[in-house]
Amino acid sequence: MTSPVWHPFTQHGLGEPIPHVVRAEGALLHLADGRSLIDGISSWWVTTHGHCNPRIAAAIAAQAAQLDQLIFAGYTHGPAEAVAQGLIDLAPRAPDQPTLSHVFYSDSGSTAVEVALKMALGYWHNLDQPERHCILVLEHSYHGDTIGAMSVGERGVYNAAWQPLLFDVGTIPFPAPGCQQACLAALEAACAQRPAAFIVEPLILGAGGMLVYSPDILREMAAICRKHDVLFIADEVMTGWGRTGTLFACEQADVVPDIMPVAKGITGGAMPLAATLATAPIFDAHYSTDRAKLFYHSSSYTANAIACAAAAANLAIWREEDVLGRIASLAAGMAARLERLAHHPAFVNPRQVGAIAAIDLIAADAGYLSDLAPSLRAFFLERGLLLRPLGNTIYLMPPYCADMDQLDRLFAAIAQAGDYFGRNA
Ligand code: PLP
Repeated sequence: MTSPVWHPFTQHGLGEPIPHVVRAEGALLHLADGRSLIDGISSWWVTTHGHCNPRIAAAIAAQAAQLDQLIFAGYTHGPAEAVAQGLIDLAPRAPDQPTLSHVFYSDSGSTAVEVALKMALGYWHNLDQPERHCILVLEHSYHGDTIGAMSVGERGVYNAAWQPLLFDVGTIPFPAPGCQQACLAALEAACAQRPAAFIVEPLILGAGGMLVYSPDILREMAAICRKHDVLFIADEVMTGWGRTGTLFACEQADVVPDIMPVAKGITGGAMPLAATLATAPIFDAHYSTDRAKLFYHSSSYTANAIACAAAAANLAIWREEDVLGRIASLAAGMAARLERLAHHPAFVNPRQVGAIAAIDLIAADAGYLSDLAPSLRAFFLERGLLLRPLGNTIYLMPPYCADMDQLDRLFAAIAQAGDYFGRNA
């Protein structure tokens, strides 16, 4: 019987197997046919402490029995209040920079980015400068799949059908080695044109191919924006919740963005929830007795109480457990294995930021539509691993509970993929 389910980023016509998962724990996914897989990419970068974390699962169960869902326009509840305060307490801080002091909830990374863009334009609109509506973006970026989020992302086959709907942006070259000064000069020139905002993925561009740049560049980009009074939006949807070795990537550059979308690991990966954090000037521009100036954005499930309870439990884990220590051990284990893999002749460009490691397989046809990525996916699945390479870029982003044996299996399979696909390239 064929399933009626239409899966995301899946070409059903290719007939690739769709594993049926019945249970998960820690870094493992258990399949209906009795096999289990190591989740090498945290189920699309969301699972942080491991699947079915008992503290988060218990919080969800308790909340579901008490208050499930509440209209959030004009009403509030305890978990949303607690999580907002917790986010503010944990958000990046730096001397002489405004603090992130307000939290707007939504339900996915894409919507958190949409909210960020709407806040930026709402800010200038309410300050009677509606001509400031251009958004600057970094080349190769990815910020989600809704229309606004696609507009500020790299254009390609994955959004070609909707090109007519996407709005124009100013694109700043990616600060690859040797191009940093060109990137900063382009940003300086673009900022002088008085755009509304510049949106970046801090330290590492995820879906664009795990492209890394230094905290120094991030700091300089934020400083240029500040100098020109251009809002700086740091999209921490992927980088947040410890992935880069600190709770938020911006901390490594002492940068406090004006607007910061977070999602994915905000609930430890158990429930869909997102938040867009903003500084007081952004909130204040919408604060008025004039109803025309309120922030016109909502969705039915804004701040869903069960999702907020999961997030509250996640924040408690961050406050009470040595999560950063766990990430540091995992990152050290990944670094040692990546260093060995780097000598393999089939690979180039090993790189790592915190608990994210990536390496490129040398391949003749490495484009997005090449058969390499699906072939690699199948190769890893046969070996009991959930990995989802980006073209010829193979990356690991495991949950922080992954152990060294699991890392050994992941890295051994990547080396085997190098033997097999390198030979067959
Ligand atoms: N922003 C970044 C940096 C992302 O990596 C992603 C997703 O991977 C998104 C936004 C969109 O998040 P979501 O898939 O939850 O809509």
